Amino acid sequence: MTSKVLTKYSEVRTDKLTGQSIILVEGREQRPTDLINTDSKDNDQNAALNVKKCVFCSGNEDKTPKEIWRKPFASSTENWEIRVIPNMFPALLIEGTSKSDEKHSLDNNRIIDAKGAHEVIVATPNHNDTFATISDKQMDLILEVIVERQNDLYYNLAGVENIKTWINWGKAAGASLRHPHVQLLCLPVNPELDLIYRAYKFNEERRETIMDSQIKKAIEDELTFFENDDFIALCPFASIQPYMMRIFPKILVPSLKYLEPNNRFMLAATLNQCFKRLENVFRFLPPLNTVFHEIPYTWSDSKNKFKFWIDIIPAINKLAGFELATGYSYFINSKPPDKAAKELREIKI
Ligand SMILES: [Zn+2]
Repeated sequence: MTSKVLTKYSEVRTDKLTGQSIILVEGREQRPTDLINTDSKDNDQNAALNVKKCVFCSGNEDKTPKEIWRKPFASSTENWEIRVIPNMFPALLIEGTSKSDEKHSLDNNRIIDAKGAHEVIVATPNHNDTFATISDKQMDLILEVIVERQNDLYYNLAGVENIKTWINWGKAAGASLRHPHVQLLCLPVNPELDLIYRAYKFNEERRETIMDSQIKKAIEDELTFFENDDFIALCPFASIQPYMMRIFPKILVPSLKYLEPNNRFMLAATLNQCFKRLENVFRFLPPLNTVFHEIPYTWSDSKNKFKFWIDIIPAINKLAGFELATGYSYFINSKPPDKAAKELREIKI
């Protein structure tokens, strides 16, 4: 192993005035990048020349921290379909390295020792794949490994309150490396408590999930653009970016772990449909973030009140002063979601 985890310390800080929280991390600014400032097909092709240097590529396994997981398990060094490694620049460390010795208040602001884990799923051995070109079968494998890692971390790492899963694709969406990858971050806090309480309250008052109510409204408003037996994809009524997409299960499942293999494959196919349609609109897969909203395992006793969902958010408009000034509660979007949905619906894949 020629490299190791380089984060020095991290802690979660909450501002008492605004309620906003940050993870303060020292050491991440040295992250390597193979992406230049613009995201375009040309840039993709430039980056494709960097296969020899890319730490996620098959053949470069010795350049990453020690592997956590791989499939197939017994494969030879370079012969794998998917790998999981620790993030070399984790936002949080398993050991916890906060400068604060214990949870305490400092000038009324809250600091929590940021124990956690930050892992990277290398989604494919092929550097030149994009999320729009990988197969349904490979996408299904990615989902399977996300669940396997969540199971391991929720059950074996103490103090995990939530595990967030996301994809950054393209420099404008925060990716530092081009090779397709997924990130998992275990948090000692639950940033989605308000969202979960809102969903529970809705369910108690209306006897249906807020997610089902959103699906019905989207169908009425012609905001949907793809569906199969188990999933439906739509452009949210208040999309924060042009062509923002949301995937809901039709079945009542609060997190990926409750999906049967056949349902999970339907989700893989739905994700692929979304990425392929975006690629069709832009003529290349635009920079985007894909974020998973699931109920943490500790809340799974109330699984009939919550459906997980996935947002795919193209990074088209740069978030700037207005969004900051409104505490990221308001966004400016110039593409009406019904028009985006109509365009996406008409694409034949
Ligand atoms: Zn690569």
